[in-house]
Amino acid sequence: MKTSALRHCPNCGSRAIKRVRKPFRAKLKARLIVVPDVEREICPECKEEYFDREANIVIDAYCFGMSRQRA
Ligand SMILES: [Zn+2]
Repeated sequence: MKTSALRHCPNCGSRAIKRVRKPFRAKLKARLIVVPDVEREICPECKEEYFDREANIVIDAYCFGMSRQRA
């Protein structure tokens, strides 16, 4: 299994980037969706957040589950 953990922030170059797990809020068609426990890398310097493939899968699955009528 391949991990895509970042060694440094692509945005500002900081090496203080760290992996956290916390809820992710997304707006989907005027609806606020909160996906619990999404792991991502966060840069404490510039506050940029980076989601890896797994995080995206989790978010997608959650959003699709919330809105089945989406074609
Ligand atoms: Zn940064």
